[in-house]
Amino acid sequence: MNTRTHCPYCALQCAMSIESGPDGAPTARPADFPTNRGGLCRKGWTSAELLHSPQRITRPLLRTDRSGAFAETDWDTALDHVAARLAAMRAEHGADSVAVFGSGGLTNEKSYLLGKFARLALGTSQIDYNGRFCMSSAAAAGNRAFGIDRGMPFPLPDLAAADTVLLAGANPAETMPPMMGHLTAPRLIVVDPRRSATAQYALDHGGLHLAPRPGTDAALALGLLHAARTADLLDTDYIAARTTGFDDAWRHAAAFWPEQTEQVTGVPAHRVREAAHLLGTAARAYVLTGRGSEQHATGTDTVSAWINLALALGLPGRDGAGYGCITGQGNGQGGREHGQKADQLPGYRKIDDPAARAHVADTWGVDPDELPGPGRSAFELLDSLGTGDGPGAMLLLGSNPAVSAPSAERVRNRLQSLDLLVTCDFVMSETAAMSDVVLPVAQWAEEEGTMTNLEGRLLRRRAVLDPPEGVRTDLQVLSALAVRLGQPAARFPDRPDAVLAELGRASAGGGADYAGVTPQRLDEGEELFWPVPGPEAGTPRMFLDSFAHPDGRARFAPVSHRGAAERPDADYPLYATTGRLMGHYQSGAQTRRIAELDAAEPRAYVEVHPDTGARAGLAEGDWARVVSRRGAALARIRHRSDARTDTVFLPFHFAGDQAANNLTNPALDPTSRMPEFKVSAVRLEPADTA
Ligand code: SF4
Repeated sequence: MNTRTHCPYCALQCAMSIESGPDGAPTARPADFPTNRGGLCRKGWTSAELLHSPQRITRPLLRTDRSGAFAETDWDTALDHVAARLAAMRAEHGADSVAVFGSGGLTNEKSYLLGKFARLALGTSQIDYNGRFCMSSAAAAGNRAFGIDRGMPFPLPDLAAADTVLLAGANPAETMPPMMGHLTAPRLIVVDPRRSATAQYALDHGGLHLAPRPGTDAALALGLLHAARTADLLDTDYIAARTTGFDDAWRHAAAFWPEQTEQVTGVPAHRVREAAHLLGTAARAYVLTGRGSEQHATGTDTVSAWINLALALGLPGRDGAGYGCITGQGNGQGGREHGQKADQLPGYRKIDDPAARAHVADTWGVDPDELPGPGRSAFELLDSLGTGDGPGAMLLLGSNPAVSAPSAERVRNRLQSLDLLVTCDFVMSETAAMSDVVLPVAQWAEEEGTMTNLEGRLLRRRAVLDPPEGVRTDLQVLSALAVRLGQPAARFPDRPDAVLAELGRASAGGGADYAGVTPQRLDEGEELFWPVPGPEAGTPRMFLDSFAHPDGRARFAPVSHRGAAERPDADYPLYATTGRLMGHYQSGAQTRRIAELDAAEPRAYVEVHPDTGARAGLAEGDWARVVSRRGAALARIRHRSDARTDTVFLPFHFAGDQAANNLTNPALDPTSRMPEFKVSAVRLEPADTA
């Protein structure tokens, strides 16, 4: 055993080889690749442990009474049962009574087949995925500005030549450490309410940490634009030649003098001027955003404010400069391109566009009128489950919304009220444990597939070993269910290469064009960044000549600062913000089952300034009850003397009564439908234990 593949977790998609360890068990070792250059983080090093975990599910599990125990069954019984229940639900209540929930962790092939399964085999419009919670705001803002959204429209190694990088709302030193090898710019500006590991790195290396009050990032971006213009640092030739809408955008920034910006954000005016100077005088500069900018009820406008700054400085579409979004989930980029979003068909096509519908229907061999229209966004879908207005049954792949959705207690109640919940997973996640049927599926290193990483680079996940006996792939499950629901078998291939070939045809001519992507080209080491419309090379750097709007120009967005949907008050006097840790990934369903990672961070904590803890009668190590209007989470107090006294931080990888998302606010961005994960108003109370 010595096969090269890529990490199962985040969007950096570090290369690794899976080898036999001393005891014969598979072990992950780093491999060289442009994104990780021979490095792995702690999660990557330990990732192979789940391949031989005793917690693996290897038999379909079924129960007919939600309060009863699961019983093992055979695949035919399980699939017949699921198909019959889904068909009965549709017959009685209509196609939209059945929902599908996907994931930004699924391969391109699975994302594609899942969307097709929902629209053809089930005929439902009710499909969305957990990527809506991840980077939908950057996708919406990128589309608005550039006419298409490829998170990072340049290769990651380009960053190494930068003079200045501004990083807003991302903490790669903790979440994707190998990326720090690319953030070697002499001037790194980190925007984050916390003194994160990345912010500390910037300070230690001569950079800046700007710590705005939670929910005021847009105001800071407007202030930087103001300061850059006042200092005569804008690229007026670029603005005139390559953009439209600057004057309207400027009208919203005009009031944001650095002193005004300081009042709103708390960032000192001289730091605003200094950051604008560092960005505006750099020969090679980048603006990068992450979840901290996006996960707000104003996320799209906040990202647009950062893009406006980048456009005003003439960065996007210039070699050696640019704007990029740091995708989070492993296939956060590809997962949003192939049709598992409520409003999209493959190739980034809009589902309500007649030409797009005609193209995809032709690829699928059906009439365009057979394709349903747009459905509900992720939180709206989850919140509608079992209510009478929403679906009564759901099929779920690669996601754990019982932990990862905002207002998680409310979402758990909705899941509980479903007539039928079917989960495909390889461990008993919290959502799987609530299900009627659990279908055991293969893990990343047990099946073939392609992923699209944060740069829009295609890569191959390789099958290193066979799945355990009794386990099937997600593609096999979808194909078998589709046939049982009356679809021709040829319409739902279960081989990844066949699905990729069809995905290429479905995406041809669309924005994210994969028509020229083949496993052979990837095996031969071609660096393919989409669009790849044919046998010619892909597109590592986009927008160098023109943007994707019909006139070739980028659009400034006229955005202003609106602030958080919920602010601290007498009952809930603190801001709470959430984020990731080095040793855990997303809902923690995988990483909490890895001994080394669990030992390092076994339980929830809340990071507070010592004065903030003292005001609530809480000392280091005490259990606290963090309470918001949505619910409560138990967490141990961890002091940070560099924390803001008005803000607490909780990692969101823990479940049940320690779930940070019990607190979070489902207020939605009007464009992206992104919930406001990053700002909740809370109070701290002593708790006896957990
Ligand atoms: Fe690399 Fe991300 Fe995997 Fe860590 S979790 S090894 S940064 S891909």
